[in-house]
Amino acid sequence: MDSKKVLVTGGAGFIGSNLCKKLLDDGREVICLDNLFSGSLKNIESLLASPGFTFIEADVTSPLDFAVGEIYNLACPASPIHYQYDPVKTVQTNVIGMINVLELARQSGARVLQASTSEIYGDPEVHPQPENYWGKVNPIGIRSCYDEGKRCAETLCFDYHREYGTDIKVVRIFNTYGPMMKPDDGRVISNFIMQALKGQDITIYGSGSQTRSFCYIDDLLDGLVKMMATEPDITGPINLGNDMEMTILQLAEKIITLTGSASRLVFKDLPGDDPLRRKPDLTLARKLLDFAPQTDLETGLKATIAYLKTAFIT
Ligand code: NAD
Ligand code: UDP
Repeated sequence: MDSKKVLVTGGAGFIGSNLCKKLLDDGREVICLDNLFSGSLKNIESLLASPGFTFIEADVTSPLDFAVGEIYNLACPASPIHYQYDPVKTVQTNVIGMINVLELARQSGARVLQASTSEIYGDPEVHPQPENYWGKVNPIGIRSCYDEGKRCAETLCFDYHREYGTDIKVVRIFNTYGPMMKPDDGRVISNFIMQALKGQDITIYGSGSQTRSFCYIDDLLDGLVKMMATEPDITGPINLGNDMEMTILQLAEKIITLTGSASRLVFKDLPGDDPLRRKPDLTLARKLLDFAPQTDLETGLKATIAYLKTAFIT
């Protein structure tokens, strides 16, 4: 077993629970910290009996004191309905939580990987988005608690790195999906799959011509673990995701086909500041991490449909 324990904040969430499982499978000892706001014990119930796994119900905005060698900082609700539920708390999680994580790293010498986001780019004017694009973000809109919170978290990472030499890795994650997603957290893939499986109307926000590029969880995990293992001079930021771009309408049609659903499309208002186009420029990830997503959309969607059907449709 690797002597360096790993702390995963937000470890009971969608990405976090999948990451905890992968790290355990790789022989690591894992401390999973989560306040269970948008994550759940169900996501980690199969891990609780593992000798290398410890779950701590705690909030990242309280000071942290653990003997660990690596920290994956994932604590933050990621779906718009969750991060907009208590926007002030979202900012606190991103800013105070990030300071607590970086303080722990500064005092213990641990390496920190920060789960940043494509929302750093806002509603982008540059397409696809490379890491050196600074973004177009509304600082006072309904998404700002998340976007600006994550931008400030990146700032803190680089200030701790410059001021204290803290060992940081910043990854900007683009829309990721897969098993352990919550059925009701409002994200497009889980929404569409649940609606299709229940024969309900599929809710297209706006015209459905806005685009996203969807990455399957296993491919993202590969990138996260590779980034954590890079030399100290590689800090990021670095994009991680899949560069297969599609419209939301195309996604809906694909999910209807794969589920064999009779659901119809209905059109609803587009939420404020919803980005029109999003696709990662993966040049840097390919070069530095040899990162290459392996899972095509159909394979990933089939696995996600199977999970949501088994776990939530009686
Ligand atoms: P998620 O909501 O499923 O997981 C977040 C986890 O953090 C949850 O378990 C939640 O309970 C926990 N959490 C929230 N606030 C906390 C706090 N104050 N203290 C302790 N725990 C707290 O979301 P996810 O999709 O797994 O995202 C994980 C991380 O990856 C987030 O930081 C998110 O911003 C980032 N990210 C995700 C995506 C994506 O497509 N899934 C894209 C970009 C960035
Ligand atoms: N969306 C949609 N119907 C839904 C949920 C989302 O049309 O039921 C759209 C949403 O407006 C956005 C895209 O799908 O344009 C992706 O939304 P999600 O919340 O999954 O992620 P994000 O907007 O953060 O990329």
